[in-house]
Amino acid sequence: MRKQELTEDEVYMKEALRQARKAYALMEVPIGCVIVYEGKIIARGYNRRNTDKNTTSHAEINAIRRASKKLGDWRLEGCTIYITLEPCQMCAGAIVQSRITRAVIGSMNPKAGCAGSVLNLLEMQEFNHQVEVERGVLQEECSTMLSGFFRELREKKKREKEQENS
Ligand SMILES: [Zn+2]
Repeated sequence: MRKQELTEDEVYMKEALRQARKAYALMEVPIGCVIVYEGKIIARGYNRRNTDKNTTSHAEINAIRRASKKLGDWRLEGCTIYITLEPCQMCAGAIVQSRITRAVIGSMNPKAGCAGSVLNLLEMQEFNHQVEVERGVLQEECSTMLSGFFRELREKKKREKEQENS
């Protein structure tokens, strides 16, 4: 087998996938994120919405909060955010608000994504900041994790229902 070297984007996306696995372990929708500044990961985050019982506890918001703390600034200029799934409207909004320079996305989310699917908040000329967007990095790995999770969830619910009826 031919050994393939990973690109820099793929290396960081793998780190985002590691974060997504943490969400999976909590039976949360597995979405993970890392923020990179000057070649270093400065913040990580994963979806904890159910665990925290908090609408805003998405991977990206959690990571943005940590990155700002680390840099001591709400502005995250020069940062790249790696996300396993296309961001929702809230997170895409936060990415624009924080002035993140670049966003790298794993799989797209046709029903709810706001980086090109439902809307494209990241590249709207009407706003004072636009984000460079790269899509489809490790797309297969990212979408397989999500589809695996939802399959497991459906099977779990089915089993629970069967137990109730027996
Ligand atoms: Zn979100």
